[in-house]
Amino acid sequence: MTACPIALFIAAIRSRASRLAAVSSYRVAATGAEPRASDSARTTTTRSYGPPRTDNSSPADTMRAFFTRSPLTRTLPASIACAARERVLKNLAAHSHLSNRTADGVAFSMPNSIRYHVAGALCAAIVTAPTPGAAQTVTPVEQRIRAHVEANTESAIALLERSVNINSGTMNKAGVEAVGMLFAGELQSLGFRTSWIAMPPVVNRAGHLVAERQPRRRRGRAAPLRILLIGHLDTVFEGEGQQFVRTDSIGTGAGTSDMKGGIVVMVQALKALASVGALDDMHVIVVLTGDEENAGDPMELARDDLIRAARRSDLVLSFEGGSDSTAVVARRGSSDWVLAVTARQYHSSGMFREGAGYGAIYEAARVLTEFRTALAGQPLLSFSPGVIVGGEKVSYDTTMMTGTASGKTNIVPPSAFVHGDLRFITEGQLDSARTVMREIVARSLPGTSSAIHFSKSYYPAMAPTPANYSLVATYDTVSRALGYAPVVGNDPGRRGAGDISFVAPIIPGLDGLGVFGSGEHSPREAIDLTSLPKQTARAALLMYRLTRDSERTRRRLMVN
Ligand SMILES: [Zn+2]
Repeated sequence: MTACPIALFIAAIRSRASRLAAVSSYRVAATGAEPRASDSARTTTTRSYGPPRTDNSSPADTMRAFFTRSPLTRTLPASIACAARERVLKNLAAHSHLSNRTADGVAFSMPNSIRYHVAGALCAAIVTAPTPGAAQTVTPVEQRIRAHVEANTESAIALLERSVNINSGTMNKAGVEAVGMLFAGELQSLGFRTSWIAMPPVVNRAGHLVAERQPRRRRGRAAPLRILLIGHLDTVFEGEGQQFVRTDSIGTGAGTSDMKGGIVVMVQALKALASVGALDDMHVIVVLTGDEENAGDPMELARDDLIRAARRSDLVLSFEGGSDSTAVVARRGSSDWVLAVTARQYHSSGMFREGAGYGAIYEAARVLTEFRTALAGQPLLSFSPGVIVGGEKVSYDTTMMTGTASGKTNIVPPSAFVHGDLRFITEGQLDSARTVMREIVARSLPGTSSAIHFSKSYYPAMAPTPANYSLVATYDTVSRALGYAPVVGNDPGRRGAGDISFVAPIIPGLDGLGVFGSGEHSPREAIDLTSLPKQTARAALLMYRLTRDSERTRRRLMVN
């Protein structure tokens, strides 16, 4: 089949629009669905799709509607990427629950330039300076938390084994839900209320586990910090029939490190906090998604519950694979674009002359070359035209990313189509790059016409904000207090998008708190079991110190 690329693209947009409309009406129809009795006696399973909403029913709506806008950071140097500017902070404050409780007008009334330098200096201080000595030793309560973690290492491994033995590739919906039920039981035993949020059929994914534990009310005490803990139940490798195998300190099996091991860290840390009564003073929301490795479409719906949870939280901790000495403060976002070029078809002997023009392929080449000369080399910005087709008759499928082209050597070709990605570290950088790309596209060569379309759904960036660096500073202090390695923030260019990217524009966060492993996304996936108690102790003490004085933590995250 052949068709004009622009017509194809418009058809793709229309099909997406009708899908969104279908989703919207399904949501409304499904609202108020009765809770479904669970197969598990211990688990309350609720089928619900949230209240009716009108704000994401239009095909013109985008993921962007869910996210705060971050500033233009075209000149963000990689080495001080943490020096996020005024508007990042304002946005975080404006969209975070932090702001309406402890709004610090003084901090945010500084001029941009001053604020920028202050933020940079704070970042540098956080990353490089050692924290005062008192925090680098563990208190008696913290010692008990650590002892609980270490005494329960074998039960943690047993829980990991049970979860790994339930295969849960993303499209194995029964398996994903069964893993959700397993962890729901663990969380219920700690006093969490749990819900299984099923996805409507159009999304074609299992759903998510959402759990929440309210704090004990205490008169005269500030409201406890609300911590969102996130992970995912699915694995990228299906692991059909694969079982957990333990050999000395190594465990193998699908999901051992990515990231059932991380969920076990989360759950065991909560148990250790409960053992000293500390969980009673914490407000914790857990969201375990069922489709992190292959997110359902439309993403507006597939990530709706996660984003709603973030809007009710003060900070997020994510348990993707970790390491001894780094934690994740930043991840680049990822967005697609499609360039569709049409041109006059003509005899090739007329090429470059007034009647014939330049043809679609020269025009596509011009656009790509100008993209490169205008944008290549910007810190943490990358873009790649992954697929190109051009000629007389061209077809391209943006979903399958496959196409065909045919033509003749003696013509000026009328069609070209390019499909590429764009990776960025802030929304501002994305906006800026898109603006430049649109300007380039608009300068079409004679006899040609180009149009560029940017995907509506995309993975937003987790920008390296000062608040995220503040969290890693606390994590570093905890690590050293436990006798482990110092911890610094990751290189923002090194990690791809993950679920935390969807909530990072809303609240400060830290990722990479899970276990150490290897062979992720392959049949050789393995976990270093010695990292289980270590990461659990570090996570438990991090949560303990962040919530012990909620107001102080709020102020630190605001000031930073
Ligand atoms: Zn993962």
